[in-house]
Amino acid sequence: MKAEIITIGDELLIGQTVDTNSAWIGSQLSLAGFDIQKKISVHDKRQDILNILADVEGRAEVIIITGGLGPTSDDITKYAVCEFFNTQLIMNEMVYSMIQDMMQRRKFPMNENNRKQAEVPESCRVLTNAVGTAPGMWFEKNGSIYVFLPGVPYEMKYIMTEHVLPELKKRFSAQFIVHKNIMTYGVSEARLAEMLTEFETGLPEEIKLAYLPSMGINKLRLTGTGNNHEKVTSIVNEQVKKLYSIIPDLIYGEDEDPLEAVVGKLLTDRKKTLSTAESCTGGNIAHLITTIPGSSKYFMGSIIAYDNSIKRNILGISEDILEREGAVSETVVRRMAENCRKLLNTSFAVATSGVAGPDGGTETKPVGTFWVAVSSDSGTVAEHQTFGNDRMLNITRFSFTALNILRKQIIRG
Ligand code: AMP
Ligand code: MG
Repeated sequence: MKAEIITIGDELLIGQTVDTNSAWIGSQLSLAGFDIQKKISVHDKRQDILNILADVEGRAEVIIITGGLGPTSDDITKYAVCEFFNTQLIMNEMVYSMIQDMMQRRKFPMNENNRKQAEVPESCRVLTNAVGTAPGMWFEKNGSIYVFLPGVPYEMKYIMTEHVLPELKKRFSAQFIVHKNIMTYGVSEARLAEMLTEFETGLPEEIKLAYLPSMGINKLRLTGTGNNHEKVTSIVNEQVKKLYSIIPDLIYGEDEDPLEAVVGKLLTDRKKTLSTAESCTGGNIAHLITTIPGSSKYFMGSIIAYDNSIKRNILGISEDILEREGAVSETVVRRMAENCRKLLNTSFAVATSGVAGPDGGTETKPVGTFWVAVSSDSGTVAEHQTFGNDRMLNITRFSFTALNILRKQIIRG
């Protein structure tokens, strides 16, 4: 079951509008069992539209096209469509009265542009649009279904959900696709792939594995395909279980779980509290933690000890240690965590110190050097890592690394 997606609009090609329609349509068609072969964006130009419609004919069973259905002169999709399917525009009374009702509700007068929107190609099946003025259009030609939808994302989604997806599911007896994402942190993509070599070779034929790295997080996507939904789900779940047994320490969550939410849940379940003492992360860990609703239950506060005077005067790190070891050191980061935990009276405290860059590196402590400590009832652990030269990326990676070490410490108890 092959599908293609075409998006029409000059604004998409010059980067003025990000083409979110094809991403959403792709995800929905994939869930309905379609294999999306291509997505293409073209200009609002008659010849370009005609060319692409001819190009896809017979190549895919389903082609979803969005854009260019507006009432203004730059939107020409409907005219090109009439030419391609050798038909003409006719006034559709049902669409006309729907537009009229909508305009009355919004207290706008009907004008010539609105009237033109009720004109649809004679040979198409009209897909009504209850949330906007441009209807969708369904055509069939030489074994391909062509569906034309408005570019406005919520109108497109409405017609897809109400009309197109139910019809496609009826027509194409289902191939089911089941996706499961496993979120990992702690090793590079290359190292992870090495650890999973055997797992990958042992995967059943109907399961595919993809690595999706971003900011040090490696998302593993397992995709199962088959004609029995329950069976595919159970095969995917079996492989997920296997992953947990191979890389238990690296997996922090499933699907789109953010690390900070996982940490929040662990703290809530255990009725524990948290504080942070942040130098190089400048409060970013506290920020991430507090993006999670309900964080007031477990997050007490933060000391942003950016300057050494704060490390000294508030966190009580002696001048002597700061001089001897430097602010970016194991000793300092350990004391920051321990003293922060006492001062803010929390079960856990995280401390960070590092060189975010782009300046400030030395031979022994290059840009990207990062120290993190987590202090709790069961003692203090500290870790050291070296990242790259990009300041914003470093702050993000420092924060994720700290959250991941905190996560492991909470689990260890
Ligand atoms: P149109 O149907 O071409 O008049 O599109 C109306 C509006 O929908 C445009 O101004 C864009 O803001 C938006 N739009 C069109 N195509 C897309 C797309 N592929 N992804 C996201 N938004 C879009
Ligand atoms: Mg347009």
